[in-house]
Amino acid sequence: EAKGRGEGGYERYRPGMEARGAERSRQVAALRTALLEEQLVVFFQPVVTLPGGRITGAEALVRWQHPEKGLLGPGAFIDAAEQSGLIVPLGTWVLRAATREAATWPGELTVSVNVSARQLRQTGFPAVVASALRDSGLPAHRLTVEITESVAVGGGATSENLQALRDLGVRLSLDDFGTGASTLSLLATCPVDQIKLDRSFVPDGGSEAIADAVLQMARAFGLQAVAEGIETAEQAERLTELGYERAQGFHFARPMPAADLRSAVALGEAGGRELEQPLVGHQGR
Ligand code: C2E
Ligand code: MG
Ligand code: MG
Ligand code: MG
Repeated sequence: EAKGRGEGGYERYRPGMEARGAERSRQVAALRTALLEEQLVVFFQPVVTLPGGRITGAEALVRWQHPEKGLLGPGAFIDAAEQSGLIVPLGTWVLRAATREAATWPGELTVSVNVSARQLRQTGFPAVVASALRDSGLPAHRLTVEITESVAVGGGATSENLQALRDLGVRLSLDDFGTGASTLSLLATCPVDQIKLDRSFVPDGGSEAIADAVLQMARAFGLQAVAEGIETAEQAERLTELGYERAQGFHFARPMPAADLRSAVALGEAGGRELEQPLVGHQGR
């Protein structure tokens, strides 16, 4: 996130920066409008069992239904939101929308919400989560907060907030696991329940050593392991053989609008249907 930034997060001067700065201000203003005018949408990507592909929950992924540019993925605006601080109200909005939606899902289906460093540093963050749970009626154990390793090493208010979320009964997940710098020591100190094997370590014909090692590590720490970014049946098969029990990826289903997930879940409920085949091809990005 802080790529290309110096100590303290300030960008060093480079020619052309003013123009980019102006462009960035326009984007931030547009994003503020998007929040106010409800142009943001939450998509949901199913998390499924290995083997079998039964839906156990979904990850909430924000989208921007831009009036001119169409549907934008987070890659197009999350950085601007982070740097401007808009990520805090944006994150609260996603959290509230996602918990409200998940409260309508049957059984024990869970929802995962991505939380940024800046959100987690806010002293009021646990209260924001508690209020989202209260207002939606979603039981705390059906919410997972996803953080990245760089967020988890934040210390201070961050560590206290992680513990406070734990105390609420919310589950914690380490996202993009293996791509950070402090993986091992972090597992010993950070109170997480789940790790998500980063997509870059999913076996694709080559070595399975990292995927295997991460699973053994998860087991040693008593954590659930989820494999992210599964695109092919072969990958699903290899991960199943390694012993992974949860997965997420285009092979099973793309991120989709809430209504589509509701239908997929209802189908599964009615028919006890297993996703041997991927769900119908949603064009969500
Ligand atoms: P993430 O949390 O690691 O989410 C997984 C990303 O991988 C999603 O991208 C998803 O669409 C994509 N993905 C899932 N399966 C596959 C696959 O099989 N192949 C490939 N190539 N990609 C797959 P998306 O939705 O573009 O989100 C990107 C990142 O933006 C997320 O990564 C997360 O870090 C961030 N993000 C998304 N929504 C939010 C949010 O509400 N708040 C914050 N703070 N960050 C968010
Ligand atoms: Mg995530
Ligand atoms: Mg990830
Ligand atoms: Mg990511």
